[in-house]
Amino acid sequence: MPRPIVARIHPAAMRHNLSIAKQLAPRSRVWAVVKANAYGHGLSRAMQAFDAAEGLALIEVDAALRLRDMGWSKPVLLLEGFFDESDLPELAAREIEFTIHCCEQIDMLQKASLDKQVDVHLKMNSGMNRLGFKPDEFRAAYLRLQAIPAVRSITLMMHFANADDASNTAMPMAEQVRRFEAASAGLEGRRSLANSAAVLSHPEVAADWVRPGIMLYGGTPGGKTAVQFGLQPAMTLESEIIGVQRIQAGDAVGYGSRFVADKAMIIGVVAGGYADGYPRHAPAGTPVMVAGNRTRLVGRVSMDMITVDLTELPDAGFGSKVELWGRHVSIDEVADAAGTIGYELMCALAPRVPVIEA
Ligand SMILES: *Cc1c(COP(=O)(O)O)cnc(C)c1O
Repeated sequence: MPRPIVARIHPAAMRHNLSIAKQLAPRSRVWAVVKANAYGHGLSRAMQAFDAAEGLALIEVDAALRLRDMGWSKPVLLLEGFFDESDLPELAAREIEFTIHCCEQIDMLQKASLDKQVDVHLKMNSGMNRLGFKPDEFRAAYLRLQAIPAVRSITLMMHFANADDASNTAMPMAEQVRRFEAASAGLEGRRSLANSAAVLSHPEVAADWVRPGIMLYGGTPGGKTAVQFGLQPAMTLESEIIGVQRIQAGDAVGYGSRFVADKAMIIGVVAGGYADGYPRHAPAGTPVMVAGNRTRLVGRVSMDMITVDLTELPDAGFGSKVELWGRHVSIDEVADAAGTIGYELMCALAPRVPVIEA
């Protein structure tokens, strides 16, 4: 019998969430974003669950090639492009599309003199100041790419800094759209702008391709909760109670003795800690589901265990089922309590946690 912690992945929820993206952007093609091992959900599983997507987009070159090995024949896109000239012949041979975000990549593409044509995605830095060409450099980059014989098509691409936050004034979303439209006016090519937040909250920017990630896994990018957006969680992190302590007022729980009981309490010990991907900074009060009831974390998260309050759950005890996140306790609630985002918790699921489908 293995340790009781397990991550259950729900492909039906992933399919459902993709259908929500398609409903919101009915005239767009969808790049289902599967970077970081499909946000912790497993690349091959995601490939199957997202078979209705027009393409799969990711960051890792080896994983892009693996998608081809596993039989994905539709488009594949590398969102940061390639990292070394030596990758180019194989990417071209296996028809993997890539982003071009800097002059150095254009230099490499020019030098490579490929004998197979490639489809590239020219990225504009429209205000996020991470990857991409500034608006006033964009046209020149486009013309350079257009002059390379191996370039078959150029998609025009940008990424939003604040699509989840209409109140952001440092770089309003509308300003990014304005810069993108102005600097790409008259340039031929498909447009690709929207991440999950834009698909969910600003479907008017959907354009030719959308690039949803987090929403496909049932997490919210912000703005509203996943449930309010009609999304279903694709990951449940489950475990069991493996020990029980009855403590008195004044007794302390866990490392640092940070939680001190103010009355007699029953404490349950759950197999699952930060070495499993549960966030170490989750404070006392973070919701946990035990035997079908919501209760709360007490005491510090340790490497292999957390401690929870069973005082009001007299039927819970050794062997009771625990949901750390999933359908009843959303991953976003846990993330929020711990001062992070659902994205990080999904990606941080630890290799030692067995993953099963259900
Ligand atoms: C990760 C990523 C996305 C998806 O973002 P979500 O917020 O998860 O929807 C879209 N576009 C690019 C370029 C990305 O890197």
